[in-house]
Amino acid sequence: MTGSIGLQEEDKISNPWPQGDNAYNNMLQMTDFGYRKIDSEANLNARNWISEELANMGYDVETQSFTTNECNDCQNIVITIGGAIDNEWIVVGAHHDAICYSPPPLIGFTYTGCSSEGAYDDATGSGALLEFANVLSQWEGTPEKTWKLGWWDYEEWQGSESSEGGGMGSSHFVDSIPNGTTVTYINLDMFGLNWPVPTPSLSQMSGCDEEFWTLYQFTSPIDDWSYYEDRGLDVTDDMRIRAENFQQELTDINNELEHPNEWVKVIDDTKGNSDHYNFIMAGHTATWLRGQHQYIAEEGDSCEQTPKHAQTDSVNTLNQLGGGRSNVESGLQTGLDIIATYAHSNWDIQSSNENSTLSNNESSLLPTPIGNISICLVAITVAILKRRKEIV
Ligand SMILES: [Zn+2]
Repeated sequence: MTGSIGLQEEDKISNPWPQGDNAYNNMLQMTDFGYRKIDSEANLNARNWISEELANMGYDVETQSFTTNECNDCQNIVITIGGAIDNEWIVVGAHHDAICYSPPPLIGFTYTGCSSEGAYDDATGSGALLEFANVLSQWEGTPEKTWKLGWWDYEEWQGSESSEGGGMGSSHFVDSIPNGTTVTYINLDMFGLNWPVPTPSLSQMSGCDEEFWTLYQFTSPIDDWSYYEDRGLDVTDDMRIRAENFQQELTDINNELEHPNEWVKVIDDTKGNSDHYNFIMAGHTATWLRGQHQYIAEEGDSCEQTPKHAQTDSVNTLNQLGGGRSNVESGLQTGLDIIATYAHSNWDIQSSNENSTLSNNESSLLPTPIGNISICLVAITVAILKRRKEIV
């Protein structure tokens, strides 16, 4: 990079930072379209709205239409921010579809009377990603790597009567990645009910011994690849090195943001059950940002209250569980801070598309340069000061 540190700091400050309240508003808009099941009018209206918003921000919007046994009209929405390196991508994604299953004992059947808003799963991720797109459209300079943001259709399994599984939209995208391209994928699926959002006092009184909900970053494994190996992945040394480096990068970012390790965790992904699975199975590196708990039922924990895949997945439920809108915004902010800090470490604010100062020889296997991290601190500090709110 060229230029004085002071100038860089000023530029960093002038770049906007994603805000949890904007993400929340986007989430509200997504839920207003109704139950976004595949092949529904609500699904179509929601994805068209995302496309229009992105076009208004100035992006060239790519639509990836596809069909499957169960879907006649599915569509991913993708935007690209070209970097100095065109065969190394950072992809951030969320799914815009929703599903609702009948309550037990009819496990696995879709619920025909459903009008679920799909608020937590995954209007939170879709809305946060739209806010992230909005600020990136205003950032000066260009990234080192090529960034893509994707809103996937058909992530959700269509129930036990379906002829196929879920994850269809991200799978379609992964199939379109050119050979020789290395991807780091960040999945946003169900977050916001996480640090600094406290677990409800009622829940604590009934046996949940956790003060806050956790924000997990389920990341390409360091120790245990068995879930992926059992499904046919041949884990290479390169995948292992990338996974280690990525976990370290995420850990460094959380440390810089002063996120408490106890409530904002980077851990091995050993279950694979969201869109990041398709990326890891294709040899790429990935993480999944996920609030609350994931496998609590198996662990006998009484803290889990995720409203996913149910009629109860609504904005009201989110506000109730989170203790009010401002708390949910703060939870969304935690995830936004992580992805925006990661983006900042990859952005060269001194360059333009025509005049990049970055070298194509820089390897993604190198850890994030300390200099990049440190010049982000001003922006991060500004963001943290902005977001500090009293959690009630
Ligand atoms: Zn989901």
